[in-house]
Amino acid sequence: MRINTDYLVVGAGASGLAFADALVAEADVEVTVVDRRSAPGGHWVDAYPFVRLHTPSAYYGVSSLALGEDRIDEVGENAGYYERARGEEVREHFAKAAERLTESGRVRVLTRHEHLGAGSDGEQIRDLSTGDLHDVAVRRKVVDARYLEGSIPATHAVPFQVAPGVLLVPINDLPAAARAGCSYAVLGSGKTAVDACMWLLDNDVQPDRIRWIRPRDAWFYDRRHFQPLEQVSAIMEGNALDAEAGAQAANVEDLFERLEASGRLVRIDPAWPARMYRGTMLSARELEALRQIADVVRLGRVRRIEADRIVLERGETPTGPDVLHVDCTALGLSDAPATPIFQPSRIVLQPVRHLSPCFNAAIVGFVEAHRDDDADKNRLCPPNPYASSIEDWPRMISRTWRTEGRWLNEPDLSAWVANSRLNLLRALPDHAAEPSVQTAVKRYLTHVRAAIERLKQLDGSSSSRGEESGAGGPGAGR
Ligand SMILES: Cc1cc2nc3c(=O)[nH]c(=O)nc-3n(C[C@H](O)[C@H](O)[C@H](O)COP(=O)(O)OP(=O)(O)OC[C@H]3O[C@@H](n4cnc5c(N)ncnc54)[C@H](O)[C@@H]3O)c2cc1C
Repeated sequence: MRINTDYLVVGAGASGLAFADALVAEADVEVTVVDRRSAPGGHWVDAYPFVRLHTPSAYYGVSSLALGEDRIDEVGENAGYYERARGEEVREHFAKAAERLTESGRVRVLTRHEHLGAGSDGEQIRDLSTGDLHDVAVRRKVVDARYLEGSIPATHAVPFQVAPGVLLVPINDLPAAARAGCSYAVLGSGKTAVDACMWLLDNDVQPDRIRWIRPRDAWFYDRRHFQPLEQVSAIMEGNALDAEAGAQAANVEDLFERLEASGRLVRIDPAWPARMYRGTMLSARELEALRQIADVVRLGRVRRIEADRIVLERGETPTGPDVLHVDCTALGLSDAPATPIFQPSRIVLQPVRHLSPCFNAAIVGFVEAHRDDDADKNRLCPPNPYASSIEDWPRMISRTWRTEGRWLNEPDLSAWVANSRLNLLRALPDHAAEPSVQTAVKRYLTHVRAAIERLKQLDGSSSSRGEESGAGGPGAGR
């Protein structure tokens, strides 16, 4: 079979679908989306059973379709905050989004199809159900929506040796493998390990039965600052705290001390240095629960698990046959380096604004629809790689602000941003008269220009050189 299409999108995860959704809303084009997986949704298809968004559903997914009902949770760790979809709800959202795109008659979504690359007669895809090869003639661009494909527990290879008889499960199998009387060793530093610990605590496992093998300590945002709509002043307050700390920071360590002192960032153990920053967030109640786990092993990464001990980079810790080891060591977000998003015949989806994967893919779709020149498109959408450590924070934030500043000079783009469901600050204009919003906006504007300059200096990567300066307004174009 030969397929003719304007765009071939490789990857039907959040990025590929949010891009396709925004593009076809703005341009009369034909799009073909392919994914190896059996359903749309990317990594969510293989996520662990108790996964949820760590951000509100209100600004996640594709722009044209709501996710959830913008309810405020009344109970649990998220009480008082906007609902966060469960994995199943996220999968349903993307399945529905794919169905609606298909119904438009302009989008084809082919699951269980793998992109093999360029062949002699166009792009090649393989139907994984039949093994058949198909040529795809792409009139405009191939869209790489898998460049930042993450590594997740269900599909990654365990990166250490495990002796026969050791009980080790990926987090996906934790509910099925957990049993009364067992102890647990949770392996990993990131959000997945947090979720494993929270699941155990929520299921009445006593904290002293949990050992947390934590190679790095991490910083987390306080979830309070990511609440949209009626609580949007908190997002603006968070931005103001970033700007103030950024403007006044003597160095990266001082920057993080300031962010912690202001309540913007938290770490599980304030007495222990934290250098990991992945942009995830916790509520105060989650933080309180996690702090009950006192048995934390900080001896680096696991090298091997033997019958009676876990051997780590800098030492060892005992284990035993009644310990269930929970593997949460998959990298999660990819550390792939930045590359231009708009290239000849190719678009490589990457972050632009920090912490907004769906928004970022959608804005690239909008810019592709409304701008002709790749240099101009790249000026409006410079890549801003995922952060991994505290050293990445100055670049990530200052690049976001500088990029948003450019959007302000583009009325059509600003209007799209202001109206997009995926824009976490979209309710800001409706709440502009509230004293808390006015205070936060004033504080942000007082510091943002100095913060951009200071953060550029703190950004050791020098990757920001050669970019235009220009601060965003209050949540510029958001
Ligand atoms: C557990 C978890 C929770 C998260 N929670 C949040 C959250 O609450 N809020 C938030 O903003 N972000 C969150 N994130 C960040 C997350 O990375 C994004 O939200 C988003 O889902 C990533 O989607 P993606 O499309 O970029 O990548 P993926 O979901 O990895 O999709 C890439 C797709 O490309 C396909 N693919 C790769 N190669 C090929 C090929 N050659 N041919 C065909 N198909 C191919 C893969 O099969 C895959 O389905 C979370 C991430 C994880 C891992």
